[in-house]
Amino acid sequence: MDSEQLREYGHRMVDFIADYYKTIETFPVLSQVQPGYLHNLLPDSAPDHPETLEQVLDDVKTKIFPGVTHWQSPSFFAYYPSNSSVAGFLGEMLSAGLGIVGFSWISSPAATELEMIVLDWFAKLLNLPDQFLSKGNGGGVIQGTASEAILVVLIAARDNVLRSVGKKALEKLVVYFSDQTHSALQKACQITGIHPENCRVLKTDSSTNYALLPELLEEAVSKDLEAGLIPFFVCANVGTTSSAAVDPLAALGKIAKSNEMWFHVDAAYAGSACICPEYRQYIDGVETADSFNLNAHKWFLTNFDCSLLWVKDQDSLTQALSTNPEFLRNKASQANLVVDYKDWQVPLGRRFRSLKLWMVLRLYGAETLKSYIRNHIKLAKDFEQLVSQDPNFEVITPRIFSLVCFRIVPTDNDENKCNNRNRELLEAVNSSGKLFISHTALSGKIILRCAIGAPLTEEKHVKEAWKVIQEAASYLIHK
Ligand code: PLP
Repeated sequence: MDSEQLREYGHRMVDFIADYYKTIETFPVLSQVQPGYLHNLLPDSAPDHPETLEQVLDDVKTKIFPGVTHWQSPSFFAYYPSNSSVAGFLGEMLSAGLGIVGFSWISSPAATELEMIVLDWFAKLLNLPDQFLSKGNGGGVIQGTASEAILVVLIAARDNVLRSVGKKALEKLVVYFSDQTHSALQKACQITGIHPENCRVLKTDSSTNYALLPELLEEAVSKDLEAGLIPFFVCANVGTTSSAAVDPLAALGKIAKSNEMWFHVDAAYAGSACICPEYRQYIDGVETADSFNLNAHKWFLTNFDCSLLWVKDQDSLTQALSTNPEFLRNKASQANLVVDYKDWQVPLGRRFRSLKLWMVLRLYGAETLKSYIRNHIKLAKDFEQLVSQDPNFEVITPRIFSLVCFRIVPTDNDENKCNNRNRELLEAVNSSGKLFISHTALSGKIILRCAIGAPLTEEKHVKEAWKVIQEAASYLIHK
């Protein structure tokens, strides 16, 4: 690393990125390229000799940018947001600059200790029970993604139960979750060897706004116990992926606890909103949970990746995931004086991710972060109102956070035709390049999703998005 070259190139790169943000609204939000587009634009093999930064940045502009979907555009309303901010960006820079690999405490003590402190700070902002704090046997850890968070707690729960009932019982273990739960849990079940027939996907519908009914869980658990199976894991959602539904945590947690099951709460998107006192109610009942995750990279101004996971019993994680090869042995670990985060995750290596979350918390402060969340929720409320005032549209589920689920209403009671029309609308809107929304299916209906949460989104972008949607719909309805 040549520090003078870093200074010169670094400044140029920051200018380049700052210019990108300045002009971000000039790009089509959803990339309009065809599969394989880049193959014809770049050489077949790596260069033998160095090229200049200008040459590379020119290629970024002319060849890479067309294939970029602009997640940071103020008109990005698809999926859930993936936030970026000056503080998050600076944290990423610092992490790249230090270039440490913090698998054990000794491999960079500050990386472990800052992560523990920042996760405690965040837990306090959420008013999580003290058992999730690092002072006892609990604590928080940063995973890359919610999928990794869910996987490691499922592994911990599986090994906990297998330690008491014996490894041969693996095929009897049963996992419970609603049909709105993210496919990350299904994948975790595949990886952990849960028998596919022992994944109880409990049905939800519009009568509960797609929240899981506790009675369904209770019924399924009793049936499985009668059949000699071993219920061991329940996952509840706060903010489902399709419609941001919220499961009743307290009631589900009670059932989980009375059956000695691990209770996990996935709040990947909506968890951030719960730092606002008026939204904290949506995680009431988290006291009964064994683990809780939220993605700070979704809606907390922290650049991807930064998925936060808290557990009450860190021993469950470390008993399942620790290894102790000679080449990693050191006094602090052997004396059990420190946390070694390598034993809380699947990979060994880990980045200094807490820096960016620390910078976000320090450079913005909790009050600004709460206003940030509230502003998006207000914009979503405005969008919801615009939709409900138009007789051609309907809002499908009541909005709680900053996601609005809506569709063009059916004509002649023809749901098939209506689904096709909504698909056409999605295609028309997204191919305009003016905004990007995504879709889902609920009770067989194709639903359009407008998730507000990009840091640059303002009222004018929401209004403009609605105008584009309305015009495209009007064309489809009258053609
Ligand atoms: N859980 C929920 C509720 C989500 O919405 C998502 C993604 O949007 C995930 C889990 C998976 O997230 P990740 O990409 O961090 O694995």
